Amino acid sequence: MPFSQAVLTGLAPDGGLLVPEWFPNVADRLAAWRELSFVELAQEIFRLYVDDIAPDDLDAIVADAFTAFDHPDIAPLVDLGDFKVLELFHGPTLSFKDVALQILGRLFEYLLGRSGERLNIVGATSGDTGSAAIYGVRGRENLSIFVLYPNGGTSELQELQMTAVPDANVHCLAIEGSFDDCQSILKSTFGDLAFKTEYRLGAVNSINWARVLAQMSYYVHVCLRAEAPAVFAVPTGNFGNIFAAIAVREMGVPIGRFVLATNENDILARFFRTGVYRRGVVHRTISPSMDIQVSSNLERFLWLRFGRDPERVKRFMAEFLKSGEAAIDDGKPVDACVDGVAVNMANTKATMRDIHERYGYVLDPHTAVGIQAARLAASTSGNGTAPVCIATAHPAKFPEAVVEAIGSQAREAVHHPSLDSLDPALARRTVLPADREAVMAYIRGNTT
Ligand SMILES: *Cc1c(COP(=O)(O)O)cnc(C)c1O
Repeated sequence: MPFSQAVLTGLAPDGGLLVPEWFPNVADRLAAWRELSFVELAQEIFRLYVDDIAPDDLDAIVADAFTAFDHPDIAPLVDLGDFKVLELFHGPTLSFKDVALQILGRLFEYLLGRSGERLNIVGATSGDTGSAAIYGVRGRENLSIFVLYPNGGTSELQELQMTAVPDANVHCLAIEGSFDDCQSILKSTFGDLAFKTEYRLGAVNSINWARVLAQMSYYVHVCLRAEAPAVFAVPTGNFGNIFAAIAVREMGVPIGRFVLATNENDILARFFRTGVYRRGVVHRTISPSMDIQVSSNLERFLWLRFGRDPERVKRFMAEFLKSGEAAIDDGKPVDACVDGVAVNMANTKATMRDIHERYGYVLDPHTAVGIQAARLAASTSGNGTAPVCIATAHPAKFPEAVVEAIGSQAREAVHHPSLDSLDPALARRTVLPADREAVMAYIRGNTT
């Protein structure tokens, strides 16, 4: 399948996830790549995987996407001595999701312009994905976006980030139900193939291969500058961000270890420790973007783990869907380089407090989960390399948790000009019942 089709369809025809036929080995290019800027490196990586966009056009898309970031280094690496923090939150909605979605929105616009088609993106969100997707496609030609979210189920700030966007191609649908209701409406809307085809529905969730690809660039960038094989600690929900790091290892880039960090929703941490993938109940935490039990991107990892045998992946996933449990049964560790570590809310807050006291650095709760997991993993593995902890959100996105953890000293840190300037007077949203027909009728009435 050509790259452009993978971007536009999202899923493979059999309902599985798309993976590249091979991961090019770049070991012999690393020395030359060290000279490249962040943007130039991202361009090189995209060119390796994209087979049907002219290189100059592709370079322009990637370069333009990073102009939306407000830090000169785009993804600065902050050295705190015992560990480093890779700040990925300098994009327009202050989460790492901007890296991929700023590129994806531009790719959509380019590909649609080329084919003369339109696309209606429909997504469900309980928080960060919605705003990052909206900012990726707002005002772009030939595409509209419809975001379903639980009415009253997001923070006010998260809702305002989505609704206070004046562009006419942005539609925020506040569903009178839970996030699960939103997801099931989304699924069944996509399941109506006649409707999906007629209204040209597209998806932006983290199963889109282009999102993983975009995220690979920052891992390579760090590895090129590391003295020893890097150790990455990644706060994990849908397994998208950490899979990008694992894909980079697949390309022959030296990486020492991966710390897979979860909150109380620890299905992935348990899986990597025990080989058993067993569904649990969803806990609500102060790191809501990781309140996930079933991680869609794990399928891509399983494909690598099972020697690229899609039948074994299918059997594993079918078993999991049927019984809520599946296991790796070849007696080997799931991945000898991955440490799965869960961090509860009390320890997350304690970490935020401790890091603020020691270094004067304010963490968002997701990043704090990753840092605490890295500390725990280092104390058991005895690995001496200072880990690179992925900062997935700016603390100002989660003001309640930050103030609760570190008190009123946090006042400065919980502000950011792009959040403070959101204008409630611009907010537009449509409240709909938790009913597929109502959502489909809205889409019908609002496509151009
Ligand atoms: C989405 C998100 C995560 C989880 O990332 P995955 O790719 O789903 O593992 C972690 N932190 C924040 C702030 C997020 O928005």
